[in-house]
Amino acid sequence: MDIFSKIAAGEIPSYKCAENEEFYAFLDINPLVKGHTLVIPRREVDYIFDMDDDEIARFQQFAKRVAIAIKAAFPCIKVAEVVLGLEVPHAHIHLIPMQSESDVDFKREKLKLSPEEFQQIADKIYAEFQK
Ligand code: 5GP
Repeated sequence: MDIFSKIAAGEIPSYKCAENEEFYAFLDINPLVKGHTLVIPRREVDYIFDMDDDEIARFQQFAKRVAIAIKAAFPCIKVAEVVLGLEVPHAHIHLIPMQSESDVDFKREKLKLSPEEFQQIADKIYAEFQK
């Protein structure tokens, strides 16, 4: 199992933001900004564009719901959706609440947050997702 499959299965801890039977959302451990979230399919698939049309549509619909929850929890201009996938070979969408373009510069220094801060951020997004 790859690392993100283990996270979705609960075998590796993560800060859960949202889930359903098919998809899982959790905080990026090296966040660009507060609320930087990763959305993944539970199914092991590396390249997002290997998903068939129905699966990628459901994936996007789930990511949209998570983005709405992030925006409610962390007011921002827009939530950016970014797909890179060069580091972890399991399809994932980055959702990043944005106040400016520099918030999505992956070369910039990442935030250092305490476990308590991570938990509070995840709880806020999770609460909005449940509404
Ligand atoms: P990418 O594959 O999109 O280039 O980058 C993978 C992203 O996953 C990075 O932003 C990195 O911080 C995040 N990441 C890598 N390993 C873990 C992990 O074990 N837990 C969490 N929460 N995030 C991770």
